[in-house]
Amino acid sequence: MSDFTSKPASPTVAAIIVAAGSGQRMTAPDKPQSENIPKQFRLLGDKPVICWSVDAFAQHENVTRIILVVGKSQEAHAQAITDQHHSKHSEMVTIVKGGASRMQSVRNGMAALSDAGYDGLVAIHDAARPLLQQGTLDALIGKLAISSAKDVAGVIPVLSVSDSLKQVKDDLITGVIDRDKASAAQTPQLFHFQQIAPLYDNLAHENVTDDASIAMSAGLNVATIAGSRSLMKLTYEDDFTILEHLSGADGNGQNTGSLMDIRLGNGFDVHKFGDMPGPIILCGIEVDSEFGLTAHSDGDVGLHALCDALFGALADGDIGSHFPPSDDKWKDADSAVFLRYAVDLCTKAKATIMHLDLTLICEYPKITPHRKAMRARIAEITGLDIDRIAVKATTSEGLGFTGRREGIAAQATATICYSGAGSS
Ligand code: MG
Repeated sequence: MSDFTSKPASPTVAAIIVAAGSGQRMTAPDKPQSENIPKQFRLLGDKPVICWSVDAFAQHENVTRIILVVGKSQEAHAQAITDQHHSKHSEMVTIVKGGASRMQSVRNGMAALSDAGYDGLVAIHDAARPLLQQGTLDALIGKLAISSAKDVAGVIPVLSVSDSLKQVKDDLITGVIDRDKASAAQTPQLFHFQQIAPLYDNLAHENVTDDASIAMSAGLNVATIAGSRSLMKLTYEDDFTILEHLSGADGNGQNTGSLMDIRLGNGFDVHKFGDMPGPIILCGIEVDSEFGLTAHSDGDVGLHALCDALFGALADGDIGSHFPPSDDKWKDADSAVFLRYAVDLCTKAKATIMHLDLTLICEYPKITPHRKAMRARIAEITGLDIDRIAVKATTSEGLGFTGRREGIAAQATATICYSGAGSS
């Protein structure tokens, strides 16, 4: 028996993902039997529902093993899915045949861990909750790690209940349940393996619907953390639509592989006026100016700031690292080339540019008369709709170098959204 009072800084976690259900409540009556695929094998975005949970656990640094418990005739199918979608993690995943009930399925998963001599934490999770986030796992593991096993055997995520709760029998309300005393239990539910595993040998637990109830029936304490609405359970057909939307896998070509991966970058640039005459290039268009801007390239301070905002969102260097001023190749270069390059980098990274926002800071020249043409030119260079491009102008109230008309500053923000599972 292990020492339950020890509190390892980074405990080992094994996951048991229960995916053995036949999904009767989601079976569409108007479809032939062959098309009524159990919900855990249906596609959510670009991968089956079970893969979302496997990926979530596989990505967590504490998780060393994943037991995927599937129905009797589903093992070959589950293995094929694992081979196709989890080749990087295949050594972590063991497929185990489930039982006639959820509890029997969990017991089979526990037996696989027990046979391997496992002695760590075990997270029991329903595959029908595909949108498990790393933060939920962090919170569960963190809470159990700081608790004494004598006091707390497990931790589960719970959600407060927003609807009023009634007891109903034969369409009549027979009682009221105090909502303030109720919470909805989610999974994964995390326990010390050595404490929870033996409890599954008691068949009296056959009809219990979650693992916390089993622990509590044995007199163990179970703590809670705040659950997540995105961790909702896929139960009814309508839930699929909600989960597709929450995951970004809603059929609009915006499948993000996990919760939407949106990143924001900012860029800043300055160029100073020289003794040469204008015009100058700003946001890709020619603007009349008494003096020109000094620069190695065409000195387009607006496009340079936008480039850096995109490089920032991609976490991929800056304009100086991609186009070194020391390289004669970029002397007097058209900065549209730089911006197109930054856009191409986003495309290669499977990131969609959601919006670009630029502020030009100068006393001179006046920007507002050129705003529309600047937005149109940036739209042309980037291929974005013009309504996703903002160009704004401000002065610095006569203060600083821009106030003294010594140069022009620009700052930009870019928002990008990664798509696909390879975006982490
Ligand atoms: Mg510059």
